[in-house]
Amino acid sequence: HRAKRSGGRTYRYYAKDWNAYAHDRVVLAAQLRRAISNDELVLYYQPQIDLRCNKVVGLEALVRWIHADEGLVSPVRFIPMAEETGLIEPLGEWVMKKACQQAADWWQQGIEFGRVAVNVSGVQIERSDMVAQVSRFLESSGLPAECLELEITESFLMTHIEAAADLLAGLKHLGVQLAMDDFGTGYSSLAYLKGLDFHTLKIDKSFLEGVPQQGSDAEILRTVVALGRSLGFKILAEGVETEQQRSFLMDSQCNYAQGYYFSPPVPAQAVPELIRKFAAV
Ligand code: C2E
Ligand code: CA
Ligand code: CA
Ligand code: CA
Repeated sequence: HRAKRSGGRTYRYYAKDWNAYAHDRVVLAAQLRRAISNDELVLYYQPQIDLRCNKVVGLEALVRWIHADEGLVSPVRFIPMAEETGLIEPLGEWVMKKACQQAADWWQQGIEFGRVAVNVSGVQIERSDMVAQVSRFLESSGLPAECLELEITESFLMTHIEAAADLLAGLKHLGVQLAMDDFGTGYSSLAYLKGLDFHTLKIDKSFLEGVPQQGSDAEILRTVVALGRSLGFKILAEGVETEQQRSFLMDSQCNYAQGYYFSPPVPAQAVPELIRKFAAV
């Protein structure tokens, strides 16, 4: 008898929570849908630095939601929901279009940003015709293909080997660059890595956490950089926060770095000044 009552309470407890949770999701999804069509999203850009010459070689576009009640909302709070609800399709399209237009503007003004790097979600890849979409936005913006880089996560690539191969070939054919994002979190096999046509490996920031204080982390990082370079990739380290990390990476022959040590992500209007600052030193 008692078990049944407590079972009942348990059920009600979960049911109530689930309803609240589902309600939040529905409200949030509806708001995000409106935000996409009303242009209530904004792209911030974080520079990627060449460790040899300290110049900006790329800008990663990172989306934020300008929310009426909550201010700037981080993508970690809405990308997973966008992926679950299919909103990642219009969201991804908005991001791609915006980044291409912005980069084309900078390009026309002679601002040397290198490449603009756009994050592409695995769900977005599965649901939309990426090659057609990218080709359309390159054409409408006038951005040269080699100024665009697409960041695709290692974990998606590892779980969609067949689909990924076709997609990568199609994108490569357009002339855009490809970066493998969050490298080191998806357990790639070496044999597999070797066959992929990537320009850049972005080493996940978790690899930098114990560097250079912890010898084993430093050793792993050095090995990953050497391995990646031996396979012909450019190596970018993410999440660089200290001068010690920067100099360690440089000594380890890492090519590029990105992180708060150099600059946080900034709004588009701050980019030209940021690039000048790096060019001047
Ligand atoms: P990510 O692609 O790994 O992007 C790097 C994240 O690390 C960014 O967080 C960036 O602001 C943050 N970061 C940069 N430097 C440092 C540092 O020195 N230390 C630390 N601890 N963090 C640093 P953000 O902008 O909040 O983006 C989070 C994630 O959301 C991104 O991770 C990416 O997976 C996703 N995301 C962002 N924009 C887009 C987008 O337009 N489309 C898709 N599909 N995903 C996006
Ligand atoms: Ca990224
Ligand atoms: Ca990353
Ligand atoms: Ca990440």
